Amino acid sequence: MPFPFWGESQEGQSMLKEAVEQLDRASGLLGLDPNLADRLRYPKRALVVTVPVRMDDGRVVSYTGYRVHHNVTLGPGKGGIRYAPTVSLEETTALAMWMTWKCALMNIPFGGAKGGVCCDTLKMSRKEIQALTRRYTSEIVMLIGPEKDIPAPDMYTNEQTMSWIMDTYSMQLGYSVPGVVTGKPLSVGGSLGRREATGLGLCNLVFAALRRLGLDPEKTTAVVQGFGNVGSVAAQELWKRKVRVIAVSDVQGGAYNPDGIDVDAMIRHAAEGGKVSGFPGVTPVSNRELLEIPCDILAPAATAGQITKENAGRIRCRILAEGANGPTTLEADEILQGKGVFIIPDVLGNAGGVTASYFEWVQDTQKFFWDLPEVQRQLSRIMLRAFDEVLALSGEKKVSHRMAALMIGISRVSAAMRFRGLYP
Ligand code: NAD
Repeated sequence: MPFPFWGESQEGQSMLKEAVEQLDRASGLLGLDPNLADRLRYPKRALVVTVPVRMDDGRVVSYTGYRVHHNVTLGPGKGGIRYAPTVSLEETTALAMWMTWKCALMNIPFGGAKGGVCCDTLKMSRKEIQALTRRYTSEIVMLIGPEKDIPAPDMYTNEQTMSWIMDTYSMQLGYSVPGVVTGKPLSVGGSLGRREATGLGLCNLVFAALRRLGLDPEKTTAVVQGFGNVGSVAAQELWKRKVRVIAVSDVQGGAYNPDGIDVDAMIRHAAEGGKVSGFPGVTPVSNRELLEIPCDILAPAATAGQITKENAGRIRCRILAEGANGPTTLEADEILQGKGVFIIPDVLGNAGGVTASYFEWVQDTQKFFWDLPEVQRQLSRIMLRAFDEVLALSGEKKVSHRMAALMIGISRVSAAMRFRGLYP
């Protein structure tokens, strides 16, 4: 077996444990009806599929794929598709659960879903990735659709992947259905501003936090882990707004320069060489060391489980801005709170992606497209409203920002479930 089959992923198991623990704590704080709280601990449905792909050398490799609907009370499922060797049923379920709370926190009419294929795209050709995507789409076609479940990009998937999914789905129906996925290129019904939305949204919230803390952005430093869609845009936006970005990283390692990194030049360097290392004037650092560099803004924008009770004590930042899903464990969260770190939790920090995806879906459904200032104005309005709501609840109930964000999301979903009742 080239990759772990479902049920065998340690990372996935700890992510799901973490997600359920977060839910249990927030449900307890809300005094939620135990019958409802218990229903929320399980996904509504989960599909496991085998995705056979003919490789360039003639072999047929069977990959395992997933699509999970955690809760679709508020609307169609929404959530990204991840291609990575860590993908498992547990990881996908945890990510789908976080999508449920995120959509509800943003007050957008979607439920929580997630999908993925356990594979290593860095070792696959474009032809193999296209074949994998088309077969995976065909295998989950009964779950997806503009009114049912709308995938989007996540780790190691992008607008090209979304175009293949849209094309495969459209070919099976016989007509073009742009609203089946978001994060598409403009030419196939994408939205202006979607690609940048997660990083930009995170940066907007960092600036809201700086204002609350009375810090001058031009005197602050930032460290960003992960240099993909989320990390590179977040770093670029911070840099454009005069924050000194002193370290960035990708899966291969980090690059540190206390005098600051020219992020536009770094983006060109990473695009040419496929990695951030080797950039002129930087010192190499490991991803572990990078997280411990003293800075004002630390933005984990790669993967889950990066900040744990083992390293939280050594983290020296003023603001933790979570671009990744699940980068901080609950134990680490408590340690950081004790140190007075201002935490922008993942369900809030990276919600710009799903919010702009909602705009893309609305535009596809209405066949009426917005200009960029309209997308950015609505994005900023929705995210700052959620930010203010989280801070207000956190202050009122004396709970962490993470618990406040989860409590808002969970209470909205559970209120709708209560009104809809238990079928039959
Ligand atoms: P991406 O594939 O575009 O980039 C991922 C980046 O992280 C790459 O630079 C990769 O080299 C790096 N990376 C991977 N594993 C790493 C590791 N173990 N240590 C350090 N770096 C590592 O993915 P993305 O879309 O930018 O997603 C990043 C995170 O943001 C994920 O947790 C994802 O779930 C979350 N997220 C993404 C979006 C979105 O709109 N793309 C929205 C919300 C949340």
